[in-house]
Parts: sequence; structure tokens; C-alpha cells
Amino acid sequence: MKIYNTLSRSKEEFVPLEEGKVKMYVCGPTVYNLIHIGNARPMIVFDTVRRYLEYKGYDVNYVSNFTDVDDKIIKKAIEEGTTAEVISKRYIEECKKDMAGMNVKPATTHPLATEEIGGMIEFIQTLIDKGYAYEKNGTVYYRTRKFKDYGKLSHKNLDDLQSGNRSLLVSGAEEKEDSLDFVLWKPKKEGEPYWVSPWSEGRPGWHIECSEMSKKYLGEQIDIHAGGEDLIFPHHENEIAQSEAANGKEFSKYWMHNAFLTIDKVKMSKSLGNFFTVRDIAEKYDLQVLRFFMLSVHYRSPLNFSQELMEAAKNSLDRIVTAAERLKEFSAGEADQVTEAEQEVLAQAGTYLQKFETAMEDDFNTADAVTAIFELVKLANTGVTEESSHALAATLYAQLKQMADIMGIIIEKKAEILDSEIEALIEERQAARKAKNFARADEIRKQLSDMGILLEDTRQGVKWKRA
Ligand code: AMP
Ligand code: ZN
Repeated sequence: MKIYNTLSRSKEEFVPLEEGKVKMYVCGPTVYNLIHIGNARPMIVFDTVRRYLEYKGYDVNYVSNFTDVDDKIIKKAIEEGTTAEVISKRYIEECKKDMAGMNVKPATTHPLATEEIGGMIEFIQTLIDKGYAYEKNGTVYYRTRKFKDYGKLSHKNLDDLQSGNRSLLVSGAEEKEDSLDFVLWKPKKEGEPYWVSPWSEGRPGWHIECSEMSKKYLGEQIDIHAGGEDLIFPHHENEIAQSEAANGKEFSKYWMHNAFLTIDKVKMSKSLGNFFTVRDIAEKYDLQVLRFFMLSVHYRSPLNFSQELMEAAKNSLDRIVTAAERLKEFSAGEADQVTEAEQEVLAQAGTYLQKFETAMEDDFNTADAVTAIFELVKLANTGVTEESSHALAATLYAQLKQMADIMGIIIEKKAEILDSEIEALIEERQAARKAKNFARADEIRKQLSDMGILLEDTRQGVKWKRA
């Protein structure tokens, strides 16, 4: 299996640190708002990597954090007149709902930065003790030039970086020894959440969070560290500087980065305002369509979002689901055996599985893997009929399901829930509330929520939508 490693800028054979095991860390979102579909790309891509590794028999320890303390969270809390904790807890819950909708498996561990501050303080202390960090007026900085390998991931040269930073040096009230140095710990401002440390009441910098959480949950050395390509510099470069200086060993063997999801060829981002949230998409499509759309291209290629491509993804997915339904129908009945004549179809199906695996082994080329799925669908539609043996249909169904499972696509048709059914339940809930039978009213709300129906009580009455 080959993985493109940002460190070497080449595809390398994947050899895990420990046989049969993979330790993988994926930088998670900062939780101050609903996630947009750009944020969803790494979630879907690396969940698919994980699923393939598991299919190959690896025991994958998958860690993905939530950054739940950050300027943007604090700003949002001030706007709403509440605490940063209320904001981050709310959006972690919402993010988990979106992940479930996109069939992204929960990580083995989802650490929260705010619950790991003690470890981060110890980590920073180690860096100070080793001479890689220093404190000035309550702020702790990393001494970038001391780390000889700085720039090895982003392939940047320190002197180029320095000249780019010069204006900053002149204009800023500089207390850093060097403009390249970055923050490990910073003192609180009035009203901000803080933790007590040997240097000041304050909070950690963003980069140290991941170095610490990765170390705590996976150990000093890991197999794969991943995220969107905007994280290569400075976030991942700084993580390497921190972890390798503190632990004295190579941090991660492989660094994987997904390309951007764009809109009109521009990176989708919160700050530019050119985004759709996963929730926006869910109003119009099953989130499986979004997942399928994301996997229709290789993860290192930019992907431009458009209505037409989403429609195309929807139609493609429908074709797979319809073929699967048909196979399932033909596989029902008394046990039989694949006939001599059908052996050829089976053999052909086997070559498509081979093709699928070859594509995935080549740096997770999901675009080619999807092509192999379609070849199987075509074969199923022409090579299996009502007259075929049940065993043939069942075998092809199992194979299609296997490939779809790896992509995180569910091929069983979801039971349709009719609007009338939902409205009848809502009416029953209103009646229960009128009769002060709140237990029953809550029960109905829960039942609806399990069906993926969200209720909102408004002044105009109860509104509902599909989650
Ligand atoms: P953030 O919350 O901005 O730290 O982003 C969380 C994850 O989403 C990171 O891995 C980012 O690299 C990734 N990400 C953000 N915007 C995009 C985008 N437009 N396309 C692909 N990945 C993105
Ligand atoms: Zn990170």
C-alpha cells in the first residue's frame, strides 16, 4: 500500500511502526459554529482511509480532537452573552450529528483541548527545560531556530520566512527573541477563560494542543498525522518542532493532507463567507450524496462544489442503490449453487474487487475505486437476472456491499418516512401536551428524533425538518 507523504513529497510504501496496528491523528475542527462542507472533506476522506486500513486487517487507533478554546469561540460567546464552554459544547454536539449523517465513524478518542491543559503545561515545561522555549511577561514562545529540522514538512527555508516576517518585527511591540518564534502559552485577557500555569493565568497556543493530545492518546511516535493542506504550515510544521524537540524522536512517519474544497475555484472558508454548512446540504440531500461527491475525486485534487456535481453524485448513488436492491431481491429464496455458466460472471466480479483494491492501495485513489464499483454495478445489471441462481446474486451483493462499506456508503434503501406520518405524530404530541401528558409528548419527540425529524416550537406552531 502506498501513501503520499507530504514530508518526502512522494508516494511511499506504508510500513506501520508496529505490525498490524495503525496510530492515526487527524486535526479536528474549532467548534464555534456549524461545520461547513470544506471541514467535512478531511472527515470523510480520512474516515475512508481508516475504513480501508481496517478492511486490510489493521487495528486502527484513530484520534481526532475538538479545539474547544480559541479566540473565535470566545468572540462568539461574547456576542451571545454566554460562556465559551456553552458555545463549544453546543457545536461539538452539532458536529457529531453531522458526522453521523455523513456516516463518519466516531474516533477511538475525541479529546477536548480544555480537558488536556495539565498535560500541555507539562509539555511546555519540558520544552523550556530543554532550551526550546522561553517565557517573556507571562507568554511562552518556541525558539524556532533552535529546532534544526524546522521547515522540513512545508519545505520552507527559515531565511525566506524571516524576510517575510520582517515588517512584523518593525511594527509590533516585539518581545520575542526572533520573529519566527511562535506562542506556546499566552496570558488571558480580561473576561477570557484561563488556566493557572507557572508562567501566567492563561491558555495554550493552538499548536501545542495537538502535540500533547497525540502524545497522550497515541504515544510519542505515530504512523499517520492528517488534516487539510492549510494545516501544513504553520500548524503541522510547529507540531513537529514541538513534538520532536520534546520527545527526541520522529513524530509521525506519514503526513497526509487533503486538497481544498472550493467554490468558484476559491477555498471554501468561514472567513470569506463562501460556504455551505453540512446542515444546508442536508436540507436538500441525503448526506450520503455529499460523502459520495467527496469521494468521486482523489483527496489530493481540489474539488469544486457545484449543484450539477451534487446532482450527478445523487444519480450515481441511486444507480448503486438500485442495483443493490435488485441483487438483494434475486438472492432471496431457497439455497442453491452458482452454475458452471455463472462462474464467468463471478470471476469477472472478482477482477473488479481487485481493481478497487489496487486503486485504494495507490494512495487511496477513491476516484478509480468508484469506477470499479460502477463496473460491478454494470455487470450485476446485465449478468444477473431473475433466472440466475440466488447464490450468484448473493455473492455479487456481498461484494458490492463490501466495497460500499469501505467508502462509507450505505446501500440499503432507507425506509421512506411519509410527511403524513410525521404530521400525525406531531398532532398527537400537541394533544398530549394540551392534556399535560408531558411524558408522552417527550416520547413522541424522541421517536421523531430517532426517525431523523427535528422539531422546532415557534410562535406560529410546530415546524419540522429532516435532519
Ligand atoms: P478548522 O476548523 O478551520 O481548523 O478546520 C478543520 C479542518 O478542515 C482542517 O483539517 C482544515 O484543513 C479543513 N478545511 C477547512 N477548510 C477546508 C476546505 N475548504 N477544504 C478542505 N479542507 C478544509
Ligand atoms: Zn492539529
